[in-house]
Amino acid sequence: MILLDNVSKTYPGDKNPALDSVSLHVEPNEFVFLVGKSGAGKSTLIKMITKEEVPDSGKIVIGGIDLDYVKKRHIPGYRRRLGVVFQDFKLLPRRTVYENVAFALEIAGMSGREIRKTVPKVLELVDLLDQAKKFPSQLSGGQQQRVSIARSVARQPKILIADEPTANLDKLTTAEIIELLKKINDFGTTILVSTHDEEVVNNLQKRVVTLKDGKIVDDQKNGGIYKLDEKKVEKAPRVIQTPGHAMRKRVIQ
Ligand code: ADP
Repeated sequence: MILLDNVSKTYPGDKNPALDSVSLHVEPNEFVFLVGKSGAGKSTLIKMITKEEVPDSGKIVIGGIDLDYVKKRHIPGYRRRLGVVFQDFKLLPRRTVYENVAFALEIAGMSGREIRKTVPKVLELVDLLDQAKKFPSQLSGGQQQRVSIARSVARQPKILIADEPTANLDKLTTAEIIELLKKINDFGTTILVSTHDEEVVNNLQKRVVTLKDGKIVDDQKNGGIYKLDEKKVEKAPRVIQTPGHAMRKRVIQ
């Protein structure tokens, strides 16, 4: 569903590559967390998928589409096939919740009749049907992110990409958003989420791909946990060790 093969990218003027021979294969219906320190290359990897940036070398195939062959004029159409969610929501401030979702469908060429049928359904999915007439400024951050998610899933994309979708949200709201992404994943959408949120990653136990200095340094296929580098992995068990545990460990050794 998402295929990157030996993808490298160095931004003009930079010495080090933002992505260095990255290969990643995501199967249909997977839920993947992308983690890594600031500057590790997470956003660049996501921009490769959305074709906001192009690689210097390597191959990218998304949902069967080889991005080398997506011409500039076809990029907006290609992006509409993906659902993309941003940390700053990117809602239209002068349009209501309903209109924000409807507008995205209008641009995608859906008929008025279909739009009137679809918008209430997706607003119900994100539990915002009762807020349909409000403007983004009248909503909480979590509600705004739910509108943004509604807008991106309204066209039923096969893939949903989210770059730090909970970066501006509190703990409780973050949990709600992740729960919603999980629900969307359960309906069959492949999901790739970049995050800094250790708790979110550890609670969900999904696939976790770790980037460091533009390279994939770890790929935990199932039950993945948040670990940025080797030091942290060594430290982690010590935190939960009890004296009994330490003794048992000594006996086993
Ligand atoms: P992350 O999302 O993990 O914080 P990024 O993909 O934003 O990482 O950045 C990876 C590297 O690429 C960093 O060294 C960053 O400084 C560099 N970089 C990102 N965007 C640009 C850009 N537009 N121009 C130059 N360098 C960039």
